[in-house]
Amino acid sequence: MSRLVVVSNRVAPITEGEPAAGGLAVGVLDALRADGGVWFGWSGQVSNDAETLPNPGRDVGRITLRTIDLSRRDYDEFYRGFANGTLWPVLHYQMGLARFDWGEFAGYRRVNALFACSLHAVLRPDDLIWAHDYHLLGLAEALREAGVGNRMGLFLHTPFPEPGVLMTVPAHAEVVRAMAAYDVIGFQTEPDRSAFTDYIVRQAGGEALGGNRLRAFGRIFATGVYPIGVHVDEVRAEAELPANRRQALRLRTNLHGRSLILSVDRLDYAKGLRQRFVAFERFLADTPAAHGQVIFMQIAPPSRSDIQTYREIRHELEAEAGRINGRFADVDWVPLRYLNRSFPRAALMPLYAEARVGLVTPLRDGMNLVAKEYVAAQDPEDPGVLVLSQFAGAARELTAALIVNPYDEAGIAGALDQALAMSIEERRGRHAAMLDVLRANSLDAWRDRFIADLRAAGG
Ligand code: UDP
Repeated sequence: MSRLVVVSNRVAPITEGEPAAGGLAVGVLDALRADGGVWFGWSGQVSNDAETLPNPGRDVGRITLRTIDLSRRDYDEFYRGFANGTLWPVLHYQMGLARFDWGEFAGYRRVNALFACSLHAVLRPDDLIWAHDYHLLGLAEALREAGVGNRMGLFLHTPFPEPGVLMTVPAHAEVVRAMAAYDVIGFQTEPDRSAFTDYIVRQAGGEALGGNRLRAFGRIFATGVYPIGVHVDEVRAEAELPANRRQALRLRTNLHGRSLILSVDRLDYAKGLRQRFVAFERFLADTPAAHGQVIFMQIAPPSRSDIQTYREIRHELEAEAGRINGRFADVDWVPLRYLNRSFPRAALMPLYAEARVGLVTPLRDGMNLVAKEYVAAQDPEDPGVLVLSQFAGAARELTAALIVNPYDEAGIAGALDQALAMSIEERRGRHAAMLDVLRANSLDAWRDRFIADLRAAGG
């Protein structure tokens, strides 16, 4: 059977016998562990040398980890520049926060070519190449230019925006042409796939051939929808494991019977944190009976803090949290707890289980695994309620959540009220329905379906 080669921007720092964090890492590691394979990507190191050499490969069980370092210029133009300064905001419909520079786009292409060149040196002719996410939209094109004929698939973890939104990126045509060099392009939801198809048919003069295949730029390739999932039973088991529950028990003692609303997000403008804080303020203003009875805890580990827009959102949230607490706090109650730090994933699961409400309101999100983890972590006999943005990919599957518009502060405030007052019968019914969906669209299903389609493609 052909070998699996996973390529992602970062290779997770894994150690044998230890669990990995994050959907991508957990999902692909299971596949790599079972059949062996290669995981290729950036080491996370920025080197001061203009030219960087691949690092020596490292074997962890049956997996070979191969990494390259990036030069300072690569990091600035590729990672901070086109990937996170242009693509990330536009893919999340935040065009006003995007910048564009042709020099940075050239840097993005250069780093994709650098990945391709280092990867080429270790490829076997029948390897299956599975690339991940918006950093590597140009990898297949660069590999094909180097003469590589292997099957190549891309899974995009982010949303894919409507053509009019994508076209705000001046290099949109080059970006989509490069994507068409893959054999299979996977999306989180049907609207993401449709937006891509629309672009191919209406903007690129391509053709939909049926069977989810497209013809454009002289190639035929397939698209698919593969919603990423979680290991449902493992999440619940982690939520109950005494070793993971230390913080959750401290929290429970400290709540003194108050209801907990919990949000967990990387500190990112696409997560809708400011709107959520204001919605909570609105809820407190509208619901005096909740004063002293409800605590909203926002866990928000900083991310990409060397990018200006991320520093700005951090300052803004600090100010908002202070303002809201200043307005409502009492001598024995502070309504909003804002934790600007990360937790080990295993410690989060029991925290989800403590929360009466999981509040997940991104302005846009490819999937949002926190929403799925929150549901999976609940006690089925006494589950909490998920309040979920209609613009998270997860909302396509978790239709039994309370679905809200993340821009509608009054709507979110109303959903919080409804969630806190919900009967146990209704909570159980909604939770059971969501758990069924999570089991059907598990992390194993995501990976197995993608790999099966990639095997069946082209070759
Ligand atoms: N996470 C974590 N520690 C934290 C905050 C988040 O391990 O302090 C994990 C969380 O459990 C989830 C992932 O990070 O598995 C976030 O995935 P999601 O799809 O929600 O958002 P992303 O950060 O990928 O945009």
